Amino acid sequence: MPHLNTVDKLAILADAAKYDASCASSGAQKRNSVGTGGIGSTEGMGICHSYAPDGRCISLLKVLLTNYCQYDCLYCVNRVSSNVQRARFGAAELAQLTMDFYKRNYIEGLFLSSGIIRSPDYTMEQMVSVARLLRETHEFNGYIHLKTIPDAAPELLEAAGRYADRLSINVELPSRKSLGKLAPEKDASRIRSAMAAVRTKIDEKKEKSRHPNPRAIKATGQSTQMIVGADKSDDRKILTTSASLYAGYKLRRVYYSAFSPTPHPSSHLPPQPPPLQREHRLYQADWLLRFYKFELDEIVSGGHNGMLDLDIDPKLAWALKNRERFPVDVNKATRSELLRVPGLGTRSVGAIVKARRLGALRLADIARLTTSVVKIRPFIVARDWVPTHSLESASLRAQVAPVPVQRDFFG
Ligand code: SF4
Repeated sequence: MPHLNTVDKLAILADAAKYDASCASSGAQKRNSVGTGGIGSTEGMGICHSYAPDGRCISLLKVLLTNYCQYDCLYCVNRVSSNVQRARFGAAELAQLTMDFYKRNYIEGLFLSSGIIRSPDYTMEQMVSVARLLRETHEFNGYIHLKTIPDAAPELLEAAGRYADRLSINVELPSRKSLGKLAPEKDASRIRSAMAAVRTKIDEKKEKSRHPNPRAIKATGQSTQMIVGADKSDDRKILTTSASLYAGYKLRRVYYSAFSPTPHPSSHLPPQPPPLQREHRLYQADWLLRFYKFELDEIVSGGHNGMLDLDIDPKLAWALKNRERFPVDVNKATRSELLRVPGLGTRSVGAIVKARRLGALRLADIARLTTSVVKIRPFIVARDWVPTHSLESASLRAQVAPVPVQRDFFG
């Protein structure tokens, strides 16, 4: 194998990490303050964005410790049977690289995942070493997100939680059956047990927060990722699994990652990726379930065989199926009725509820308090506004649905 320097490894291991969605990656961003492309330059490799516990958007170095892996998850480009170039960072090397980027203000934190080498325990130990070196040797106070390995010993998961701000464990696929078929070395029960253990530690930490223990877990949350479109699970099944994960393990987020075909794919996998819009609609539906008090049956029902409508967002789809619930009077409706109006988000609803205490709102007021009054107009009544066309109109969908836009070839 040719000798790889740190930049070569970074190119391979940042590229391999891009398939993991669970740090809310918004893609690589090129930063190169010196213009040399040397060690101080990210060359756009591995920089993603995520949200810190305090809500700030931060840049992370998103990378794998190694893309060697002894497992053979059929949907993964790093599986043992995949013919990709391999690389591996040493723990000290990666900690130093993170510090170099941090000192140059390229990043504010690290998102670290890894293929499984030797054993889950050995791999987890190496990842914990990176985090420990950063915290204890380099006195790094930035954000660390560790993708943990469910089969690793509980003490290692606990150690990971002492150094990381966020832990995540990928549930990978919506059903146990699919996981058994596509990722034979993984076990859905062990994944859930590991999530339960992390949740218990986070809960204990909250209870003991008045009496801090230096060896206590520091992580404040956990998240997971589900791959969409690698198996036959429909959107209802995916959202049902998400709901049970949110309820059972208090996850901060479930990330939905559209399956992307790898070279030399297995015949068990679809030849094409799902439309990216499907991923987007799942995020919207997930949001409605968690923050807008919708029930699953309200969102995925009717004539789409358990799938969300790709053409319109799920709230608009629900409104068009429930036209008798509209228009709602913005000056009288309850907060939860307003939250169901297509185009009204939690912030706009808060602003409307506050503003109407001072006097009845007109359409111009709603325009000022929202981002697009055009989308909202058919569904509301204001002091000087009643929609003129009937909500029974068969053409309503055409009036309010977004105009289809041809996506960029790579979009
Ligand atoms: S464990 Fe599976 S998903 Fe993770 S790197 Fe290895 S092959 Fe890929």
